[in-house]
Amino acid sequence: MSTIAENLADIRSRMEAACLRSGRDPGGVRLVGVTKTVPVDRVREGVEAGITILGENYIQEAAGKIEAFSGMQISWHFIGHLQSNKARVAADCCDWVETVDRDSLAKELNRQVLKRGRTIPVLIQVNVGDEVSKSGVSPEGLLQLFRAVAQYEGLEVRGLMTLPPYLENPEDVRPYFQMLRRLLGELRQEAPHPELLTELSMGMSHDFEVAIEEGATLIRVGTALFGSRAAFPA
Ligand SMILES: *Cc1c(COP(=O)(O)O)cnc(C)c1O
Repeated sequence: MSTIAENLADIRSRMEAACLRSGRDPGGVRLVGVTKTVPVDRVREGVEAGITILGENYIQEAAGKIEAFSGMQISWHFIGHLQSNKARVAADCCDWVETVDRDSLAKELNRQVLKRGRTIPVLIQVNVGDEVSKSGVSPEGLLQLFRAVAQYEGLEVRGLMTLPPYLENPEDVRPYFQMLRRLLGELRQEAPHPELLTELSMGMSHDFEVAIEEGATLIRVGTALFGSRAAFPA
């Protein structure tokens, strides 16, 4: 089995190749290491290998891991479904929330961050495949949600995030990545400060190269970096 450092080197070279293929600056794509269910020791190995952004799905697990890495220069992105009554935990410990998908959550997160005298960068999660099993605002509801979220002083909307349908062949996912990019373009037409809307969080272990070709600025990679989650069940 390869080490996390070897996995990271392999992912970085594939990221760079995808940038070159599509005429993009490799500096414009950042890797989020997804640590759900990954034990702290393994996460530490990743941090020592050079990962600087970590993504967590479960808020209690996130709070524990973030505590374990306090004092280190890591940016923590929350990437899971967030219940409104857990917004205070996110406000306490997360640097970004990528999964704002409804006004009630945005409102509570805003209240909690302002209470702590801070603001927080957020992404709006879009359900590009209109799947009932997935969180995210529908493409049709995006503009209305964006307008609501943009009013909250504690939330800095930076762009969009999606978890597209799982399809074996990454090429088949491409239209969903294209859709997210198009939706961001449409929002920029409406936004008072389009220059702040720069992020597209899309692409995971099996499809990040296609996502980069379609404009991803944040890719979220778990398995390809830390190994199969089956090895360390939740
Ligand atoms: C688990 C997860 C990932 C990473 O998935 P891998 O296939 O292991 O790379 C990315 N984003 C979200 C939202 C996830 O839940």
